[in-house]
Amino acid sequence: MSSNNDKPMKIFTYPEPVLREKAKPVGNIDEAIQTLIDRMAATMYSAPGIGLAANQVGEPIQIIVFDVSPREKGRNLSVLINPEIIQAEGKVSQEESCLSVVDFSAEVTRPACVKVRGVDRHGKPVEIDAEGLLSVCLQHEIDHLSGVLFIDHISSLKRALYNKKLKKMRKKGLLQGE
Ligand SMILES: [Zn+2]
Repeated sequence: MSSNNDKPMKIFTYPEPVLREKAKPVGNIDEAIQTLIDRMAATMYSAPGIGLAANQVGEPIQIIVFDVSPREKGRNLSVLINPEIIQAEGKVSQEESCLSVVDFSAEVTRPACVKVRGVDRHGKPVEIDAEGLLSVCLQHEIDHLSGVLFIDHISSLKRALYNKKLKKMRKKGLLQGE
């Protein structure tokens, strides 16, 4: 792996339009896709975060990377290409945050367990039965590929409060890259 593949990418933040794009399915898993996957992983680990969707680094294509293993146990990277939720059951509420939604977290209610289907970076079909943190993480990242953010799942009042806070931060010049 060249050192360039370890270089974190810029993470796009709300309300940048690429976060609202519907990601296109990946056809051929070529060298460029492999490089993007490596760089997405580097970006996720350096943030640090437990999941990242390609939209978040400005590439609206259907790739997610995630690693929900406790950090003291080392890295255990998973990659899913063209993932889809094929089954969802139950209900759970959990505090969520997002690398693309700065300085905010909120409780989100989602199905408790999901079955997800996709292919790995070698094109091998993968099926994951997820619950707990992995289930929430997968739903959150797959949402990104549809242009959906966790703040779309909270009340409009809470969202309005966040938008107000963002506006204030922008005024004070507290947002990076602006
Ligand atoms: Zn996110």
